[in-house]
Amino acid sequence: MVEANRTVVIPLKIPSESQSDFHQTILPYVYCQQEAVEHCWPDTPKQPADLQTSKQDAENALYDRLRDETNEQLHSNLVQKAIKDATSAISSCKTSWENGDRLSKPDFYDRERAGYTMTYDKRAATYGRYEATFSTLNGTVTCRYELPAEIEGTPYGEYILDRRWSFSTSKLVFDGERFWLHAVMQRQFGDDPVYAPTTDNSSSDTHEDTHRVLGVDLNVDGATAVTSTGQFYGNADALNAYRFEQEQLRGELQQTGTRSAHLRFQQRRGTEWRYYDQYAHHVANAIKQEALRVRATHVAFEELTRIRKRISNLPKFQHWLFKKVRTYTEYKLEGYGVTVDTTTPEYTSQGCSRTDCECVDEDNRDDKHFECVECGYTVNSDYNAAKNIGFRYLCEELSSPASRTCSSGQATSQLALVSGTLSPDGSFAEHEWVSTDKSHPQQASGSSSARAQ
Ligand SMILES: [Zn+2]
Repeated sequence: MVEANRTVVIPLKIPSESQSDFHQTILPYVYCQQEAVEHCWPDTPKQPADLQTSKQDAENALYDRLRDETNEQLHSNLVQKAIKDATSAISSCKTSWENGDRLSKPDFYDRERAGYTMTYDKRAATYGRYEATFSTLNGTVTCRYELPAEIEGTPYGEYILDRRWSFSTSKLVFDGERFWLHAVMQRQFGDDPVYAPTTDNSSSDTHEDTHRVLGVDLNVDGATAVTSTGQFYGNADALNAYRFEQEQLRGELQQTGTRSAHLRFQQRRGTEWRYYDQYAHHVANAIKQEALRVRATHVAFEELTRIRKRISNLPKFQHWLFKKVRTYTEYKLEGYGVTVDTTTPEYTSQGCSRTDCECVDEDNRDDKHFECVECGYTVNSDYNAAKNIGFRYLCEELSSPASRTCSSGQATSQLALVSGTLSPDGSFAEHEWVSTDKSHPQQASGSSSARAQ
Protein backbone atom coordinates (compact mmCIF):
# COMPACT_ATOMS: atom_id res chain seq x y z
CA MET A 1 0.00 0.00 0.00
CA VAL A 2 1.24 3.43 -0.92
CA GLU A 3 -0.23 6.46 0.82
CA ALA A 4 -0.46 9.84 -0.86
CA ASN A 5 -1.20 13.18 0.81
CA ARG A 6 -2.27 16.47 -0.76
CA THR A 7 -3.02 19.74 0.97
CA VAL A 8 -5.90 21.70 -0.51
CA VAL A 9 -6.44 25.28 0.66
CA ILE A 10 -10.13 26.20 0.82
CA PRO A 11 -11.54 29.60 1.79
CA LEU A 12 -14.19 29.19 4.49
CA LYS A 13 -17.43 31.09 4.80
CA ILE A 14 -17.76 31.80 8.49
CA PRO A 15 -20.81 33.72 9.70
CA SER A 16 -19.58 36.91 11.40
CA GLU A 17 -21.30 35.98 14.65
CA SER A 18 -19.28 32.71 14.75
CA GLN A 19 -15.89 34.24 14.09
CA SER A 20 -15.46 35.21 17.74
CA ASP A 21 -15.96 31.54 18.69
CA PHE A 22 -12.65 30.80 16.97
CA HIS A 23 -10.97 33.96 18.30
CA GLN A 24 -11.88 32.80 21.81
CA THR A 25 -10.87 29.20 21.24
CA ILE A 26 -7.38 30.15 20.11
CA LEU A 27 -6.59 31.70 23.53
CA PRO A 28 -6.51 28.45 25.57
CA TYR A 29 -5.11 26.68 22.50
CA VAL A 30 -2.09 29.01 22.33
CA TYR A 31 -1.72 28.71 26.08
CA CYS A 32 -1.40 24.91 25.68
CA GLN A 33 1.04 25.28 22.78
CA GLN A 34 3.30 27.61 24.73
CA GLU A 35 3.13 25.59 27.96
CA ALA A 36 4.29 22.58 25.95
CA VAL A 37 7.17 24.61 24.49
CA GLU A 38 8.24 25.67 28.00
CA HIS A 39 8.13 22.03 29.08
CA CYS A 40 10.17 20.70 26.17
CA TRP A 41 12.71 23.51 25.89
CA PRO A 42 15.13 23.69 28.88
CA ASP A 43 16.39 27.09 30.07
CA THR A 44 19.79 26.88 28.46
CA PRO A 45 20.00 23.97 26.05
CA LYS A 46 23.62 23.02 25.35
CA GLN A 47 23.08 20.70 22.43
CA PRO A 48 20.27 19.67 20.06
CA ALA A 49 19.63 16.53 22.13
CA ASP A 50 18.56 18.71 25.08
CA LEU A 51 15.39 19.60 23.21
CA GLN A 52 12.50 17.25 23.87
CA THR A 53 10.60 16.29 20.77
CA SER A 54 8.54 13.29 21.82
CA LYS A 55 4.88 14.15 21.48
CA GLN A 56 3.90 11.21 23.65
CA ASP A 57 6.25 12.17 26.53
CA ALA A 58 5.00 15.74 26.44
CA GLU A 59 1.40 14.62 26.39
CA ASN A 60 1.92 12.24 29.32
CA ALA A 61 3.52 15.02 31.34
CA LEU A 62 1.14 17.83 30.44
CA TYR A 63 -2.26 16.65 29.32
CA ASP A 64 -4.05 16.43 32.69
CA ARG A 65 -2.66 19.73 33.93
CA LEU A 66 -3.54 21.58 30.72
CA ARG A 67 -7.05 20.13 30.65
CA ASP A 68 -7.43 21.35 34.17
CA GLU A 69 -5.99 24.80 33.56
CA THR A 70 -8.26 25.34 30.56
CA ASN A 71 -11.25 24.34 32.71
CA GLU A 72 -11.92 21.43 30.37
CA GLN A 73 -13.51 23.90 27.99
CA LEU A 74 -11.10 23.20 25.18
CA HIS A 75 -11.87 19.96 23.32
CA SER A 76 -9.53 17.26 24.67
CA ASN A 77 -8.29 16.57 21.17
CA LEU A 78 -7.35 20.23 20.68
CA VAL A 79 -5.25 20.06 23.85
CA GLN A 80 -3.39 17.09 22.35
CA LYS A 81 -2.99 18.84 19.01
CA ALA A 82 -1.64 21.99 20.69
CA ILE A 83 1.00 19.86 22.43
CA LYS A 84 1.82 18.21 19.12
CA ASP A 85 2.14 21.59 17.37
CA ALA A 86 4.74 22.50 20.00
CA THR A 87 6.78 19.29 19.69
CA SER A 88 6.67 19.58 15.87
CA ALA A 89 7.97 23.15 16.04
CA ILE A 90 10.72 22.12 18.44
CA SER A 91 11.56 19.17 16.26
CA SER A 92 12.28 21.45 13.31
CA CYS A 93 14.40 23.69 15.56
CA LYS A 94 16.34 20.60 16.58
CA THR A 95 16.92 19.53 12.98
CA SER A 96 18.13 23.04 12.05
CA TRP A 97 20.46 23.09 15.03
CA GLU A 98 21.87 19.69 14.08
CA ASN A 99 22.61 21.21 10.70
CA GLY A 100 24.43 24.12 12.29
CA ASP A 101 21.62 26.67 12.21
CA ARG A 102 20.48 27.55 15.69
CA LEU A 103 16.95 28.92 16.03
CA SER A 104 15.36 30.57 19.02
CA LYS A 105 12.65 29.04 21.15
CA PRO A 106 9.23 28.96 19.41
CA ASP A 107 6.89 31.69 20.63
CA PHE A 108 3.29 30.90 19.78
CA TYR A 109 2.01 34.09 21.44
CA ASP A 110 4.11 36.09 19.03
CA ARG A 111 2.87 34.06 16.05
CA GLU A 112 -0.71 34.54 17.12
CA ARG A 113 -0.57 38.29 16.64
CA ALA A 114 -0.67 38.06 12.84
CA GLY A 115 -3.23 35.29 12.78
CA TYR A 116 -3.28 31.73 14.00
CA THR A 117 -3.49 28.07 13.10
CA MET A 118 -5.35 25.32 14.93
CA THR A 119 -4.91 21.66 14.12
CA TYR A 120 -8.15 19.69 13.92
CA ASP A 121 -8.31 15.95 13.49
CA LYS A 122 -11.50 14.04 12.90
CA ARG A 123 -12.31 13.82 16.59
CA ALA A 124 -12.62 17.59 16.92
CA ALA A 125 -13.95 18.34 13.44
CA THR A 126 -16.19 16.78 10.80
CA TYR A 127 -15.07 17.26 7.23
CA GLY A 128 -17.54 17.06 4.38
CA ARG A 129 -17.34 17.80 0.70
CA TYR A 130 -19.14 21.13 0.97
CA GLU A 131 -18.65 22.13 4.60
CA ALA A 132 -16.79 21.38 7.79
CA THR A 133 -17.80 21.52 11.45
CA PHE A 134 -15.29 22.51 14.15
CA SER A 135 -15.34 22.29 17.93
CA THR A 136 -14.92 25.62 19.68
CA LEU A 137 -15.15 26.78 23.29
CA ASN A 138 -18.80 27.62 22.60
CA GLY A 139 -19.87 24.44 20.88
CA THR A 140 -19.51 23.46 17.25
CA VAL A 141 -19.42 25.84 14.29
CA THR A 142 -20.25 24.75 10.75
CA CYS A 143 -18.54 26.55 7.87
CA ARG A 144 -19.41 26.22 4.19
CA TYR A 145 -16.58 26.06 1.70
CA GLU A 146 -16.29 28.86 -0.81
CA LEU A 147 -16.30 26.93 -4.07
CA PRO A 148 -14.31 27.93 -7.14
CA ALA A 149 -16.43 29.13 -10.10
CA GLU A 150 -15.03 26.43 -12.34
CA ILE A 151 -14.51 23.23 -10.40
CA GLU A 152 -13.14 21.00 -13.14
CA GLY A 153 -9.39 20.72 -12.85
CA THR A 154 -9.14 22.61 -9.54
CA PRO A 155 -7.63 20.95 -6.47
CA TYR A 156 -11.09 21.20 -4.93
CA GLY A 157 -12.62 19.16 -7.74
CA GLU A 158 -9.72 16.80 -7.92
CA TYR A 159 -9.34 15.91 -4.27
CA ILE A 160 -12.22 17.13 -2.10
CA LEU A 161 -15.00 15.87 -4.36
CA ASP A 162 -13.23 12.70 -5.34
CA ARG A 163 -14.33 9.86 -3.07
CA ARG A 164 -11.04 8.06 -3.44
CA TRP A 165 -9.46 10.78 -1.30
CA SER A 166 -10.44 11.17 2.33
CA PHE A 167 -9.79 13.88 4.91
CA SER A 168 -6.94 13.49 7.32
CA THR A 169 -5.91 15.79 10.21
CA SER A 170 -6.21 19.31 8.77
CA LYS A 171 -5.63 22.90 9.85
CA LEU A 172 -7.92 25.84 10.41
CA VAL A 173 -6.00 29.01 9.53
CA PHE A 174 -6.91 32.61 10.33
CA ASP A 175 -4.61 34.95 8.41
CA GLY A 176 -5.67 38.10 10.25
CA GLU A 177 -8.44 38.80 7.78
CA ARG A 178 -10.17 35.60 6.79
CA PHE A 179 -10.42 31.91 7.55
CA TRP A 180 -9.05 29.03 5.51
CA LEU A 181 -9.09 25.29 5.75
CA HIS A 182 -5.80 23.64 4.88
CA ALA A 183 -7.38 20.29 4.13
CA VAL A 184 -5.02 17.33 4.11
CA MET A 185 -6.40 14.74 1.71
CA GLN A 186 -5.23 11.17 1.83
CA ARG A 187 -5.47 8.31 -0.60
CA GLN A 188 -4.31 4.70 -0.47
CA PHE A 189 -2.95 3.19 -3.63
CA GLY A 190 -3.17 -0.58 -3.73
CA ASP A 191 -0.15 -2.61 -4.77
CA ASP A 192 -2.00 -4.16 -7.69
CA PRO A 193 0.01 -4.96 -10.79
CA VAL A 194 1.25 -1.74 -12.34
CA TYR A 195 0.46 -1.24 -16.00
CA ALA A 196 3.80 -1.73 -17.61
CA PRO A 197 4.71 -1.85 -21.26
CA THR A 198 5.22 -5.46 -22.22
CA THR A 199 6.36 -6.83 -25.53
CA ASP A 200 6.04 -10.60 -25.26
CA ASN A 201 2.29 -10.96 -24.89
CA SER A 202 1.22 -8.05 -27.06
CA SER A 203 1.26 -10.05 -30.26
CA SER A 204 -0.20 -13.26 -28.90
CA ASP A 205 -3.33 -11.76 -27.38
CA THR A 206 -4.71 -9.84 -30.32
CA HIS A 207 -5.80 -12.31 -32.85
CA GLU A 208 -7.85 -10.93 -35.74
CA ASP A 209 -10.97 -12.73 -34.53
CA THR A 210 -10.70 -11.70 -30.92
CA HIS A 211 -13.49 -9.52 -29.60
CA ARG A 212 -12.55 -7.55 -26.57
CA VAL A 213 -15.15 -5.55 -24.68
CA LEU A 214 -14.69 -2.55 -22.47
CA GLY A 215 -17.77 -2.13 -20.24
CA VAL A 216 -18.72 1.41 -19.17
CA ASP A 217 -21.13 2.40 -16.40
CA LEU A 218 -22.50 5.97 -16.36
CA ASN A 219 -23.46 7.65 -13.10
CA VAL A 220 -25.25 10.70 -11.78
CA ASP A 221 -22.89 11.00 -8.82
CA GLY A 222 -19.32 10.03 -8.03
CA ALA A 223 -17.40 9.44 -11.25
CA THR A 224 -19.47 10.04 -14.39
CA ALA A 225 -17.99 7.04 -16.19
CA VAL A 226 -16.48 3.89 -14.66
CA THR A 227 -14.91 1.20 -16.84
CA SER A 228 -14.64 -2.56 -16.42
CA THR A 229 -10.89 -1.96 -16.23
CA GLY A 230 -11.43 0.00 -13.00
CA GLN A 231 -10.89 3.51 -14.36
CA PHE A 232 -12.95 6.42 -13.02
CA TYR A 233 -13.58 9.43 -15.27
CA GLY A 234 -15.22 12.79 -14.70
CA ASN A 235 -16.54 14.11 -11.44
CA ALA A 236 -20.33 14.17 -11.35
CA ASP A 237 -20.39 15.67 -7.86
CA ALA A 238 -18.30 18.61 -9.00
CA LEU A 239 -20.49 18.99 -12.06
CA ASN A 240 -23.63 18.96 -9.91
CA ALA A 241 -22.16 21.56 -7.58
CA TYR A 242 -21.35 23.74 -10.59
CA ARG A 243 -24.90 23.33 -11.95
CA PHE A 244 -26.38 24.20 -8.57
CA GLU A 245 -24.29 27.37 -8.39
CA GLN A 246 -25.22 28.39 -11.94
CA GLU A 247 -28.87 27.84 -11.18
CA GLN A 248 -28.69 30.16 -8.22
CA LEU A 249 -26.83 32.78 -10.21
CA ARG A 250 -29.44 32.62 -12.95
CA GLY A 251 -32.21 32.93 -10.38
CA GLU A 252 -30.62 36.11 -9.07
CA LEU A 253 -30.21 37.60 -12.53
CA GLN A 254 -33.79 36.78 -13.39
CA GLN A 255 -35.04 38.51 -10.28
CA THR A 256 -33.10 41.66 -11.13
CA GLY A 257 -35.27 42.00 -14.24
CA THR A 258 -33.21 44.73 -15.97
CA ARG A 259 -32.19 44.49 -19.61
CA SER A 260 -28.50 44.09 -18.80
CA ALA A 261 -29.35 41.37 -16.32
CA HIS A 262 -31.29 39.64 -19.08
CA LEU A 263 -28.27 39.83 -21.40
CA ARG A 264 -25.97 38.48 -18.75
CA PHE A 265 -28.47 35.72 -18.12
CA GLN A 266 -28.26 34.69 -21.79
CA GLN A 267 -24.46 34.83 -21.77
CA ARG A 268 -24.28 32.69 -18.66
CA ARG A 269 -26.53 30.14 -20.27
CA GLY A 270 -24.15 29.92 -23.26
CA THR A 271 -21.06 29.62 -21.08
CA GLU A 272 -22.77 26.97 -19.01
CA TRP A 273 -23.70 24.75 -21.94
CA ARG A 274 -20.25 25.06 -23.46
CA TYR A 275 -18.92 23.89 -20.12
CA TYR A 276 -21.16 20.81 -20.08
CA ASP A 277 -20.27 20.03 -23.67
CA GLN A 278 -16.56 20.27 -22.83
CA TYR A 279 -17.13 18.00 -19.89
CA ALA A 280 -18.79 15.36 -22.09
CA HIS A 281 -15.86 15.57 -24.52
CA HIS A 282 -13.42 15.20 -21.67
CA VAL A 283 -15.09 12.03 -20.37
CA ALA A 284 -15.50 10.58 -23.88
CA ASN A 285 -11.83 11.22 -24.59
CA ALA A 286 -10.81 9.36 -21.47
CA ILE A 287 -12.98 6.37 -22.44
CA LYS A 288 -11.50 6.43 -25.94
CA GLN A 289 -7.94 6.41 -24.57
CA GLU A 290 -8.77 3.53 -22.29
CA ALA A 291 -10.40 1.53 -25.11
CA LEU A 292 -7.26 1.98 -27.19
CA ARG A 293 -4.98 1.17 -24.29
CA VAL A 294 -6.58 -2.23 -23.64
CA ARG A 295 -7.08 -2.72 -27.41
CA ALA A 296 -10.82 -3.14 -27.10
CA THR A 297 -12.84 -3.93 -30.21
CA HIS A 298 -16.12 -2.96 -28.54
CA VAL A 299 -17.17 -0.42 -25.94
CA ALA A 300 -20.45 -1.32 -24.24
CA PHE A 301 -22.73 1.18 -22.50
CA GLU A 302 -25.99 0.50 -20.76
CA GLU A 303 -29.07 1.37 -22.84
CA LEU A 304 -30.45 4.77 -21.85
CA THR A 305 -34.00 3.49 -21.46
CA ARG A 306 -32.62 0.96 -19.02
CA ILE A 307 -30.81 3.64 -17.04
CA ARG A 308 -34.06 5.64 -16.95
CA LYS A 309 -35.83 2.68 -15.46
CA ARG A 310 -33.10 2.09 -12.94
CA ILE A 311 -32.82 5.71 -11.82
CA SER A 312 -36.54 6.43 -11.50
CA ASN A 313 -36.39 10.17 -12.09
CA LEU A 314 -33.22 10.54 -14.12
CA PRO A 315 -33.05 14.30 -14.69
CA LYS A 316 -33.22 15.50 -18.29
CA PHE A 317 -29.78 16.98 -17.91
CA GLN A 318 -28.17 13.66 -16.97
CA HIS A 319 -29.99 11.98 -19.82
CA TRP A 320 -28.60 14.60 -22.20
CA LEU A 321 -25.11 14.24 -20.75
CA PHE A 322 -25.05 10.44 -20.97
CA LYS A 323 -26.16 10.60 -24.57
CA LYS A 324 -23.43 13.13 -25.36
CA VAL A 325 -20.75 11.01 -23.71
CA ARG A 326 -21.83 7.96 -25.67
CA THR A 327 -22.11 9.80 -28.99
CA TYR A 328 -18.76 11.52 -28.58
CA THR A 329 -17.10 8.25 -27.63
CA GLU A 330 -18.55 6.78 -30.81
CA TYR A 331 -17.23 9.64 -32.98
CA LYS A 332 -13.82 9.56 -31.40
CA LEU A 333 -13.41 5.82 -31.90
CA GLU A 334 -14.78 5.72 -35.43
CA GLY A 335 -11.42 5.89 -37.10
CA TYR A 336 -10.01 3.10 -34.96
CA GLY A 337 -12.45 0.36 -35.91
CA VAL A 338 -13.86 0.20 -32.41
CA THR A 339 -17.61 -0.38 -32.17
CA VAL A 340 -19.59 1.54 -29.58
CA ASP A 341 -22.79 -0.24 -28.64
CA THR A 342 -25.37 -0.61 -25.90
CA THR A 343 -26.78 -3.51 -23.97
CA THR A 344 -29.68 -3.97 -21.58
CA PRO A 345 -28.33 -5.93 -18.65
CA GLU A 346 -30.64 -6.95 -15.84
CA TYR A 347 -29.69 -5.94 -12.33
CA THR A 348 -26.62 -3.95 -13.37
CA SER A 349 -26.18 -2.54 -9.92
CA GLN A 350 -27.56 -5.32 -7.69
CA GLY A 351 -25.96 -8.33 -9.33
CA CYS A 352 -22.63 -9.70 -8.21
CA SER A 353 -20.11 -9.43 -11.06
CA ARG A 354 -18.15 -12.50 -10.06
CA THR A 355 -18.82 -15.13 -12.69
CA ASP A 356 -18.82 -17.90 -10.11
CA CYS A 357 -21.60 -16.19 -8.18
CA GLU A 358 -25.10 -15.53 -9.40
CA CYS A 359 -26.31 -13.54 -6.48
CA VAL A 360 -28.73 -10.69 -7.26
CA ASP A 361 -29.91 -8.86 -4.19
CA GLU A 362 -30.76 -5.24 -3.50
CA ASP A 363 -28.89 -5.52 -0.20
CA ASN A 364 -25.70 -6.03 -2.18
CA ARG A 365 -25.44 -2.35 -2.89
CA ASP A 366 -25.15 0.58 -0.52
CA ASP A 367 -24.49 3.72 -2.54
CA LYS A 368 -20.94 3.33 -3.87
CA HIS A 369 -20.23 0.28 -1.78
CA PHE A 370 -20.96 -3.17 -3.16
CA GLU A 371 -20.73 -6.18 -0.92
CA CYS A 372 -22.20 -9.47 -2.13
CA VAL A 373 -24.40 -10.99 0.58
CA GLU A 374 -23.62 -14.43 -0.77
CA CYS A 375 -19.91 -14.58 -1.63
CA GLY A 376 -18.73 -11.49 0.24
CA TYR A 377 -17.12 -9.91 -2.83
CA THR A 378 -16.52 -6.28 -1.89
CA VAL A 379 -15.87 -3.65 -4.49
CA ASN A 380 -16.82 -0.18 -5.70
CA SER A 381 -20.43 -0.57 -6.88
CA ASP A 382 -19.99 1.40 -10.13
CA TYR A 383 -17.04 -0.74 -11.08
CA ASN A 384 -19.13 -3.83 -10.33
CA ALA A 385 -21.84 -2.43 -12.63
CA ALA A 386 -19.34 -1.69 -15.42
CA LYS A 387 -18.21 -5.31 -15.35
CA ASN A 388 -21.82 -6.52 -15.47
CA ILE A 389 -22.52 -4.33 -18.50
CA GLY A 390 -19.40 -5.50 -20.32
CA PHE A 391 -19.94 -9.15 -19.50
CA ARG A 392 -23.57 -9.06 -20.49
CA TYR A 393 -22.69 -7.50 -23.83
CA LEU A 394 -20.01 -10.11 -24.33
CA CYS A 395 -22.35 -13.03 -23.75
CA GLU A 396 -25.49 -11.64 -25.39
CA GLU A 397 -24.26 -9.66 -28.35
CA LEU A 398 -20.93 -11.12 -29.29
CA SER A 399 -21.50 -14.78 -28.63
CA SER A 400 -23.99 -15.18 -31.46
CA PRO A 401 -24.06 -18.67 -32.99
CA ALA A 402 -21.57 -17.58 -35.66
CA SER A 403 -18.97 -16.34 -33.25
CA ARG A 404 -19.79 -18.46 -30.21
CA THR A 405 -16.83 -20.59 -29.46
CA CYS A 406 -17.23 -20.83 -25.72
CA SER A 407 -18.49 -24.38 -25.95
CA SER A 408 -15.38 -25.56 -27.73
CA GLY A 409 -13.36 -24.04 -24.93
CA GLN A 410 -11.62 -21.68 -27.33
CA ALA A 411 -13.20 -18.41 -26.36
CA THR A 412 -12.53 -15.58 -28.75
CA SER A 413 -14.53 -12.97 -26.84
CA GLN A 414 -13.12 -11.26 -23.80
CA LEU A 415 -14.07 -8.62 -21.28
CA ALA A 416 -11.25 -6.24 -20.40
CA LEU A 417 -10.68 -6.04 -16.62
CA VAL A 418 -8.14 -4.28 -14.41
CA SER A 419 -5.43 -6.84 -14.73
CA GLY A 420 -6.50 -9.17 -17.50
CA THR A 421 -9.36 -10.50 -19.58
CA LEU A 422 -12.40 -12.60 -18.81
CA SER A 423 -14.03 -15.00 -21.25
CA PRO A 424 -17.74 -15.89 -21.44
CA ASP A 425 -16.99 -19.28 -19.88
CA GLY A 426 -15.62 -17.47 -16.85
CA SER A 427 -11.94 -18.15 -17.40
CA PHE A 428 -9.60 -15.33 -16.53
CA ALA A 429 -6.32 -14.58 -18.24
CA GLU A 430 -3.84 -12.30 -16.54
CA HIS A 431 -2.53 -9.54 -18.70
CA GLU A 432 -0.49 -6.43 -18.17
CA TRP A 433 -1.97 -3.62 -20.24
CA VAL A 434 0.36 -1.35 -22.09
CA SER A 435 0.40 2.05 -20.49
CA THR A 436 -0.48 4.93 -22.81
CA ASP A 437 0.61 7.65 -20.48
CA LYS A 438 2.96 8.25 -17.61
CA SER A 439 0.31 9.09 -15.07
CA HIS A 440 -0.34 6.96 -12.05
CA PRO A 441 -2.83 4.22 -12.84
CA GLN A 442 -6.15 5.07 -11.22
CA GLN A 443 -7.40 1.81 -9.95
CA ALA A 444 -10.63 0.84 -8.38
CA SER A 445 -10.48 0.09 -4.71
CA GLY A 446 -10.62 -3.61 -4.25
CA SER A 447 -9.53 -4.17 -7.82
CA SER A 448 -7.19 -6.95 -6.78
CA SER A 449 -10.24 -9.02 -5.93
CA ALA A 450 -11.91 -8.13 -9.21
CA ARG A 451 -10.78 -11.24 -10.96
CA ALA A 452 -13.52 -13.61 -11.73
CA GLN A 453 -11.91 -16.81 -10.66
ZN1 LIG B 1 -21.25 -12.82 -5.14
